[in-house]
Amino acid sequence: MCKCPNHRHAEKVSSLGKDWHKFCLKCERCSKTLNPGGHAEHDGKPFCHKPCYAALFGPKGALSSSIKDRLSFTSSVFVIL
Ligand SMILES: [Zn+2]
Ligand SMILES: [Zn+2]
Repeated sequence: MCKCPNHRHAEKVSSLGKDWHKFCLKCERCSKTLNPGGHAEHDGKPFCHKPCYAALFGPKGALSSSIKDRLSFTSSVFVIL
């Protein structure tokens, strides 16, 4: 359940295995209200699929994180040597 002091009597919805106030289930980036089960998620936070999730974690974001993985792999190999 979100911990906000507002919406105490608001309708509740379930998504990401948690309960949310209907108006608190919104995109972390653009604050668009989301439909339970009809949105993307990252680190337990709700995001809309487009444009936010695609912009933040889409193919471009996946590429940069795989480069980051490779860099940390390289540096751990370096430490072992
Ligand atoms: Zn709330
Ligand atoms: Zn969004």
